[in-house]
Amino acid sequence: MNNDLVIQNLRVNVGDKEILKGVNLTVQQGTIHAIMGPNGSGKSTLSYTLAGHPGYKVTAGEVWFKGQNILTLEANERSKLGLFLAFQHPVAVPGVSVANFLRAALNAHRAVPGKDPKETSIPIAEFRKLLKSGMLFLEMDDKFARRYLNEGFSGGEKKRLETLQMMLLKPGMIIMDETDSGLDIDALKIVSKGVNHLLNPEIGALVITHYQRLLDYIKPNFVSVMMEGQIVQAGGPELALKLEEKGYDWVREEFAHAS
Ligand code: ADP
Ligand code: MG
Repeated sequence: MNNDLVIQNLRVNVGDKEILKGVNLTVQQGTIHAIMGPNGSGKSTLSYTLAGHPGYKVTAGEVWFKGQNILTLEANERSKLGLFLAFQHPVAVPGVSVANFLRAALNAHRAVPGKDPKETSIPIAEFRKLLKSGMLFLEMDDKFARRYLNEGFSGGEKKRLETLQMMLLKPGMIIMDETDSGLDIDALKIVSKGVNHLLNPEIGALVITHYQRLLDYIKPNFVSVMMEGQIVQAGGPELALKLEEKGYDWVREEFAHAS
């Protein structure tokens, strides 16, 4: 089956303010598509809407993935379908350890309606092995697995955990919202290593970033620019370099002339 993510004329309100004003975008399976744009342009609104956050009200449009309009699905159903959102600001959950959280997430994905969870759950030993190899790959200390989810985590630890979760769940479409924010260069390299390890011709990625820096490590095939809730420019990797060099003002001017 085709694993493209197809966003058609998506309009989204936060409160009574329209933030996304008709977004059209396709992320083809096997490609990396970057969205860049100034602060406040609606990038996070797009990622939260795709993940199914209840605070973001869709007023028009459709989003297709694996033959379904995912806007009709609950957040957990979207996740099970293979959509993964790496948050810009992951939440802390005191009392829930990293290991338990990851195992619960994995088992939720493996669950089959009408079947006993005992049958579908990952055997503990297998899970431990998987967790250990993922943590080794991302250069995480063993103790990390016993800590409470995101509680007191540094920026780098939070993003490593998001990446570890991705590596375990093996999503079909990854959406990363400013994964580079709050990361030093070493953490950025490790997180990128994890993402690149995961990517294959079946998996697509929508990489949202304000800065070009991340795209040195996770190399996009396509770059789109969002401004005031719309995609206003589209191109290849050279567009990201142009934005790095010239900033967003020229896009703003071209957009003002066009509209
Ligand atoms: P970006 O991620 O590109 O910086 P956002 O999607 O975070 O942009 O924000 C776009 C606009 O929507 C901003 O004007 C912001 O103030 C507004 N907005 C986003 N989320 C909320 C929210 N939960 N409550 C109120 N306003 C919001
Ligand atoms: Mg944002």
